[in-house]
Amino acid sequence: MTPGICVLGSCNMDLVAFAERAPSLGETVMGTRFLTVPGGKGSNQAIAAARAGGAVRMIGAVGGDDFGRALRGVLRGAGVDDAALRETMEPTGIAHIVVDGGGGNSIIVIAGANGTVNSLSVHDEGIVTSSSVLLLQLELPIEAAIAGAAAAHRAGVRVILTPAPSRPIPDALFANVDLLAPNQHELADITGIRDPKAALVSLLEKVPAAVVTLGSEGCLYGARGLPPFHVPAPKVDAVDTTAAGDTFVGVLAVALAEGREIVEALHRANAAAALSVQRAGASSSMPARDEIDAFLS
Ligand code: ATP
Repeated sequence: MTPGICVLGSCNMDLVAFAERAPSLGETVMGTRFLTVPGGKGSNQAIAAARAGGAVRMIGAVGGDDFGRALRGVLRGAGVDDAALRETMEPTGIAHIVVDGGGGNSIIVIAGANGTVNSLSVHDEGIVTSSSVLLLQLELPIEAAIAGAAAAHRAGVRVILTPAPSRPIPDALFANVDLLAPNQHELADITGIRDPKAALVSLLEKVPAAVVTLGSEGCLYGARGLPPFHVPAPKVDAVDTTAAGDTFVGVLAVALAEGREIVEALHRANAAAALSVQRAGASSSMPARDEIDAFLS
């Protein structure tokens, strides 16, 4: 076990209905399949990091309901410390997803318990400041991310932000981020620039370092004062890319917490994400540490 990954983030149950076509307003259609899948970017990143060998503590909230109990069980099963995962009167957050015959989807997210996490308790702050890496995403109220990043920054804890889902990011948050980890769409949303290299360079005016994930192309890393470099992904047959980005970030965090150099950490993150896309599912597709080691040896 390596010291200290803290994830301040969301837990959702994904309710996924498959149908030939999505219903239009006022219409009912017969579907073909239904799945409940543990998700939320916070929970996904926590599980990816724990499976990769990190000592992970999760700060967030679920409801006192079956979905909350199921999510807690999945986190514990992966070895995540859930002591700071609060139980609230609000129900567990859900993502209500309709997938049509062409693989297109429409999604309604109900934040539920996630929406109650808008500040950090003294105990939460203690968890953040005693970690070596803090992982943030944008599925909780922005006040929580701002408070978490500020506490981490004061204590010298490395802050990695996944800017998803896309929403405006206040300077008060940017100011305390050490590494921003957008995908190509989020990068374009933040910078207004389509070309990843040019967008990355412009992003470095806001944060000291950034890694852009490029799907099957791997990732592009840049830091102030250094030329950006590309780390290609291993060539694999992808069957399901769900949570590939969260796997990448979770494994990157563990590698950095272990003191690995950034190039090696990015190779491990690419390898783990490439392993995950070869299997269906979200958290169930994330590789264990020995699989990552075997893949890289
Ligand atoms: P998602 O939303 O599906 O979790 P994302 O859009 O956040 O993903 P991507 O840039 O698509 O993130 O992928 C993240 C990482 O996953 C990539 O940087 C790469 O390491 C790996 N990856 C994704 N797709 C493939 C693929 N087809 N082959 C190999 N690696 C892949």
